[in-house]
Amino acid sequence: MTAADILKNYNLNKTHCRVLVLEHLMKNRRALSQAEIEKSLRPLCNRSTIYRILNKLSEKKIIQLIVIDEVNKYFYDEEALSAKGAYEPVYFQCIKCNRVVPAGRMSKEAFQLSEGFVKLRYNFVIQGICDKCNQEHYNKS
Ligand SMILES: [Zn+2]
Repeated sequence: MTAADILKNYNLNKTHCRVLVLEHLMKNRRALSQAEIEKSLRPLCNRSTIYRILNKLSEKKIIQLIVIDEVNKYFYDEEALSAKGAYEPVYFQCIKCNRVVPAGRMSKEAFQLSEGFVKLRYNFVIQGICDKCNQEHYNKS
């Protein structure tokens, strides 16, 4: 599916910047912050446009929002999108290079809240050292 098809399926207008932002996330296999997206799409789309697009896309669950150390990161997860919330994606953050990549999924039954508790925001993030940084470490020693 192309970015334009996805926007159409969710009844969103195919504005130039919406297509660019979604395409950019689709071709990156790691989660990106708004600042990183801005850097790549400047000067085609401005900051506030990108901000609004990211909010809209994550509100519609087209992209995943992952909050790490108070920074919002966005990731296009094709499988999570087609599973329509049947499970929760788990991510991995490298503490050396800061890369955030998908690391599996968790069934919703694995975490049932007690009665009266309301789920607002949640992140499943495993922190550690990624394969690339790990390799660099071994190459040095
Ligand atoms: Zn790393």
